[in-house]
Amino acid sequence: MVITGIVIPILIFIFGLCIGSFLNVCIYRLPAGKSIAFPPSHCPNCEAAIRIYDNIPVIGWLILKGRCRDCGTRISWRYPLVELLTGCFALCTCLKFGPTIEAAIYFAFIAVLIVITFIDIDHRIIPDRITLPGIPLAFAAALILPQMTWQASLLGILAGGGSLLVVAIGYTFITGKEGMGGGDIKLLALIGALCGWAGVLFTIFFGSVLGSVTGIATMRGSGQGTKLAIPFGPFLSVGTIGYIFFGPEMIHWYLSTMGK
Ligand SMILES: [Zn+2]
Repeated sequence: MVITGIVIPILIFIFGLCIGSFLNVCIYRLPAGKSIAFPPSHCPNCEAAIRIYDNIPVIGWLILKGRCRDCGTRISWRYPLVELLTGCFALCTCLKFGPTIEAAIYFAFIAVLIVITFIDIDHRIIPDRITLPGIPLAFAAALILPQMTWQASLLGILAGGGSLLVVAIGYTFITGKEGMGGGDIKLLALIGALCGWAGVLFTIFFGSVLGSVTGIATMRGSGQGTKLAIPFGPFLSVGTIGYIFFGPEMIHWYLSTMGK
Protein backbone atom coordinates (compact mmCIF):
# COMPACT_ATOMS: atom_id res chain seq x y z
CA MET A 1 0.00 0.00 0.00
CA VAL A 2 1.39 3.37 -1.01
CA ILE A 3 0.55 6.36 1.15
CA THR A 4 -1.10 9.05 -0.93
CA GLY A 5 -0.75 12.77 -0.38
CA ILE A 6 2.36 14.70 0.47
CA VAL A 7 1.78 15.72 4.11
CA ILE A 8 2.11 12.30 5.71
CA PRO A 9 5.34 11.39 3.85
CA ILE A 10 6.86 14.73 4.89
CA LEU A 11 5.87 14.13 8.53
CA ILE A 12 7.36 10.63 8.40
CA PHE A 13 10.57 12.04 6.93
CA ILE A 14 10.78 14.68 9.69
CA PHE A 15 10.10 11.98 12.30
CA GLY A 16 13.02 10.02 10.78
CA LEU A 17 15.29 13.09 10.97
CA CYS A 18 14.52 13.44 14.69
CA ILE A 19 15.24 9.76 15.31
CA GLY A 20 18.49 10.26 13.36
CA SER A 21 19.41 13.04 15.76
CA PHE A 22 19.00 10.57 18.64
CA LEU A 23 21.04 7.94 16.74
CA ASN A 24 23.92 10.46 16.56
CA VAL A 25 23.85 10.63 20.37
CA CYS A 26 23.94 6.80 20.54
CA ILE A 27 26.82 6.60 18.03
CA TYR A 28 29.00 8.95 20.06
CA ARG A 29 28.05 7.95 23.60
CA LEU A 30 27.46 4.16 23.54
CA PRO A 31 31.10 3.20 22.77
CA ALA A 32 32.28 5.52 25.56
CA GLY A 33 29.90 3.83 27.99
CA LYS A 34 28.11 7.15 28.60
CA SER A 35 24.42 7.65 29.23
CA ILE A 36 22.41 8.36 26.09
CA ALA A 37 19.84 10.36 28.09
CA PHE A 38 22.02 12.72 30.11
CA PRO A 39 23.53 15.29 29.82
CA PRO A 40 21.74 17.08 26.96
CA SER A 41 23.68 17.64 23.71
CA HIS A 42 26.77 19.75 24.21
CA CYS A 43 29.82 20.77 22.18
CA PRO A 44 32.55 18.12 22.65
CA ASN A 45 35.18 20.88 22.63
CA CYS A 46 33.88 23.74 24.81
CA GLU A 47 31.12 21.78 26.61
CA ALA A 48 28.59 24.53 25.87
CA ALA A 49 25.04 23.19 25.71
CA ILE A 50 23.59 23.11 22.18
CA ARG A 51 20.69 25.58 22.02
CA ILE A 52 17.37 24.03 21.21
CA TYR A 53 17.03 25.91 17.89
CA ASP A 54 20.56 24.84 16.85
CA ASN A 55 19.65 21.23 17.58
CA ILE A 56 17.01 21.01 14.81
CA PRO A 57 18.08 18.08 12.58
CA VAL A 58 20.10 19.07 9.48
CA ILE A 59 18.82 22.68 9.54
CA GLY A 60 20.67 23.50 12.78
CA TRP A 61 23.92 22.26 11.27
CA LEU A 62 23.33 24.27 8.08
CA ILE A 63 22.52 27.47 10.01
CA LEU A 64 25.71 27.06 12.06
CA LYS A 65 27.64 26.27 8.85
CA GLY A 66 29.01 23.17 10.61
CA ARG A 67 30.64 25.05 13.50
CA CYS A 68 29.94 25.36 17.23
CA ARG A 69 28.20 28.68 17.94
CA ASP A 70 30.34 29.23 21.05
CA CYS A 71 33.87 28.15 20.17
CA GLY A 72 33.77 27.71 16.38
CA THR A 73 34.97 24.08 16.47
CA ARG A 74 33.98 22.11 13.38
CA ILE A 75 30.93 19.88 13.80
CA SER A 76 31.26 16.80 11.57
CA TRP A 77 29.08 16.58 8.45
CA ARG A 78 28.26 13.09 9.66
CA TYR A 79 25.67 14.49 12.07
CA PRO A 80 23.38 15.77 9.28
CA LEU A 81 24.29 12.73 7.13
CA VAL A 82 23.04 10.28 9.78
CA GLU A 83 19.89 12.39 10.22
CA LEU A 84 19.22 12.45 6.47
CA LEU A 85 19.89 8.70 6.13
CA THR A 86 17.49 7.94 8.97
CA GLY A 87 14.84 10.26 7.50
CA CYS A 88 15.13 8.54 4.11
CA PHE A 89 14.83 5.05 5.64
CA ALA A 90 11.79 6.10 7.68
CA LEU A 91 10.15 7.20 4.44
CA CYS A 92 11.28 4.15 2.44
CA THR A 93 10.07 1.59 5.00
CA CYS A 94 6.65 3.29 5.08
CA LEU A 95 6.43 3.39 1.28
CA LYS A 96 7.46 -0.26 1.03
CA PHE A 97 5.38 -1.74 3.88
CA GLY A 98 2.65 0.86 4.33
CA PRO A 99 1.62 2.30 7.71
CA THR A 100 2.03 -1.07 9.44
CA ILE A 101 3.72 -2.52 12.52
CA GLU A 102 5.96 -4.28 9.99
CA ALA A 103 7.27 -0.92 8.74
CA ALA A 104 7.90 0.20 12.33
CA ILE A 105 9.83 -2.98 13.16
CA TYR A 106 12.00 -2.78 10.04
CA PHE A 107 12.63 0.94 10.57
CA ALA A 108 13.68 0.33 14.19
CA PHE A 109 15.99 -2.45 13.00
CA ILE A 110 17.55 -0.25 10.30
CA ALA A 111 18.08 2.47 12.94
CA VAL A 112 20.02 -0.07 15.04
CA LEU A 113 22.08 -1.03 11.97
CA ILE A 114 22.91 2.65 11.34
CA VAL A 115 24.23 3.00 14.91
CA ILE A 116 26.25 -0.23 14.60
CA THR A 117 27.67 0.85 11.22
CA PHE A 118 29.06 4.17 12.41
CA ILE A 119 30.34 2.81 15.74
CA ASP A 120 32.13 0.03 13.82
CA ILE A 121 33.66 2.56 11.39
CA ASP A 122 34.89 4.73 14.29
CA HIS A 123 36.05 2.09 16.78
CA ARG A 124 36.15 -1.31 14.97
CA ILE A 125 33.79 -2.72 17.55
CA ILE A 126 30.15 -3.74 17.57
CA PRO A 127 28.97 -3.16 21.15
CA ASP A 128 27.49 -6.10 23.03
CA ARG A 129 25.20 -3.52 24.65
CA ILE A 130 23.35 -3.41 21.33
CA THR A 131 23.60 -6.94 19.93
CA LEU A 132 23.03 -9.07 23.06
CA PRO A 133 19.71 -7.50 24.16
CA GLY A 134 18.90 -7.08 20.46
CA ILE A 135 18.80 -10.82 19.71
CA PRO A 136 15.86 -11.73 22.02
CA LEU A 137 14.09 -8.47 21.08
CA ALA A 138 14.43 -9.26 17.38
CA PHE A 139 13.20 -12.81 18.02
CA ALA A 140 10.09 -11.38 19.70
CA ALA A 141 9.60 -8.87 16.86
CA ALA A 142 9.90 -11.65 14.27
CA LEU A 143 6.84 -13.30 15.83
CA ILE A 144 4.83 -10.23 14.76
CA LEU A 145 6.13 -10.16 11.18
CA PRO A 146 3.67 -11.91 8.86
CA GLN A 147 6.36 -13.53 6.69
CA MET A 148 8.39 -14.85 9.65
CA THR A 149 7.97 -17.82 11.97
CA TRP A 150 9.72 -18.52 15.25
CA GLN A 151 11.40 -21.49 13.57
CA ALA A 152 12.82 -19.27 10.80
CA SER A 153 14.00 -16.77 13.41
CA LEU A 154 15.68 -19.46 15.55
CA LEU A 155 17.33 -20.97 12.46
CA GLY A 156 18.45 -17.46 11.56
CA ILE A 157 20.13 -16.98 14.95
CA LEU A 158 21.91 -20.33 14.59
CA ALA A 159 22.83 -19.72 10.95
CA GLY A 160 24.10 -16.23 11.77
CA GLY A 161 26.17 -17.36 14.74
CA GLY A 162 27.39 -20.55 13.06
CA SER A 163 28.25 -19.01 9.71
CA LEU A 164 31.26 -17.25 11.23
CA LEU A 165 33.59 -20.10 10.44
CA VAL A 166 32.56 -20.40 6.80
CA VAL A 167 32.82 -16.68 6.14
CA ALA A 168 36.05 -16.33 8.09
CA ILE A 169 37.67 -19.08 6.03
CA GLY A 170 36.27 -17.64 2.78
CA TYR A 171 37.37 -14.11 3.58
CA THR A 172 40.84 -15.21 4.62
CA PHE A 173 41.11 -17.28 1.44
CA ILE A 174 40.15 -14.32 -0.77
CA THR A 175 42.01 -11.49 0.93
CA GLY A 176 44.68 -13.30 2.94
CA LYS A 177 43.44 -11.55 6.10
CA GLU A 178 41.44 -12.58 9.10
CA GLY A 179 38.11 -11.00 8.49
CA MET A 180 35.60 -11.64 11.21
CA GLY A 181 35.49 -10.83 14.89
CA GLY A 182 33.20 -11.80 17.75
CA GLY A 183 31.13 -8.65 17.26
CA ASP A 184 30.36 -9.69 13.70
CA ILE A 185 28.99 -13.11 14.80
CA LYS A 186 26.64 -11.50 17.31
CA LEU A 187 25.54 -9.01 14.66
CA LEU A 188 24.82 -11.87 12.24
CA ALA A 189 22.86 -13.70 14.94
CA LEU A 190 20.85 -10.50 15.47
CA ILE A 191 20.22 -10.18 11.72
CA GLY A 192 19.17 -13.85 11.62
CA ALA A 193 16.74 -13.34 14.50
CA LEU A 194 14.77 -10.77 12.51
CA CYS A 195 15.35 -11.79 8.89
CA GLY A 196 15.59 -15.59 9.28
CA TRP A 197 18.12 -17.93 7.75
CA ALA A 198 17.38 -16.71 4.21
CA GLY A 199 18.15 -13.16 5.31
CA VAL A 200 21.41 -14.30 6.91
CA LEU A 201 22.54 -16.11 3.75
CA PHE A 202 21.60 -13.11 1.59
CA THR A 203 23.43 -10.75 3.98
CA ILE A 204 26.57 -12.89 4.15
CA PHE A 205 26.67 -13.22 0.37
CA PHE A 206 26.25 -9.52 -0.41
CA GLY A 207 28.21 -8.35 2.62
CA SER A 208 31.15 -10.60 1.69
CA VAL A 209 31.13 -9.50 -1.95
CA LEU A 210 31.05 -5.82 -0.95
CA GLY A 211 33.57 -6.35 1.86
CA SER A 212 35.97 -8.41 -0.26
CA VAL A 213 35.96 -5.95 -3.15
CA THR A 214 36.60 -3.07 -0.75
CA GLY A 215 39.07 -5.19 1.24
CA ILE A 216 41.11 -6.01 -1.84
CA ALA A 217 41.01 -2.34 -2.84
CA THR A 218 42.38 -1.22 0.54
CA MET A 219 44.71 -4.17 1.27
CA ARG A 220 47.95 -2.49 0.33
CA GLY A 221 49.87 -0.96 3.22
CA SER A 222 47.56 -2.00 6.03
CA GLY A 223 49.92 -4.04 8.15
CA GLN A 224 47.55 -4.57 11.04
CA GLY A 225 48.14 -8.27 11.52
CA THR A 226 44.95 -10.00 12.56
CA LYS A 227 42.95 -6.79 12.61
CA LEU A 228 40.75 -6.18 9.60
CA ALA A 229 41.83 -3.30 7.38
CA ILE A 230 38.20 -2.26 7.18
CA PRO A 231 35.32 -2.94 9.57
CA PHE A 232 32.92 -5.64 8.36
CA GLY A 233 29.78 -4.50 10.24
CA PRO A 234 28.88 -1.78 7.72
CA PHE A 235 28.89 -4.30 4.84
CA LEU A 236 26.68 -6.70 6.79
CA SER A 237 24.35 -3.79 7.57
CA VAL A 238 24.14 -2.74 3.91
CA GLY A 239 23.49 -6.38 2.91
CA THR A 240 20.68 -6.69 5.46
CA ILE A 241 19.02 -3.42 4.41
CA GLY A 242 19.22 -4.67 0.82
CA TYR A 243 17.49 -7.87 1.95
CA ILE A 244 14.72 -6.00 3.77
CA PHE A 245 13.85 -3.98 0.67
CA PHE A 246 14.67 -6.34 -2.22
CA GLY A 247 15.64 -9.75 -0.79
CA PRO A 248 12.44 -11.80 -1.09
CA GLU A 249 11.82 -10.38 -4.60
CA MET A 250 15.40 -11.15 -5.68
CA ILE A 251 15.26 -14.68 -4.27
CA HIS A 252 11.91 -15.27 -5.98
CA TRP A 253 13.29 -13.92 -9.29
CA TYR A 254 16.40 -16.08 -8.96
CA LEU A 255 14.45 -19.24 -8.19
CA SER A 256 11.97 -18.65 -11.02
CA THR A 257 14.83 -18.03 -13.45
CA MET A 258 16.58 -21.21 -12.30
CA GLY A 259 13.36 -23.19 -12.72
CA LYS A 260 13.01 -22.39 -16.41
ZN1 LIG B 1 32.07 24.61 21.25
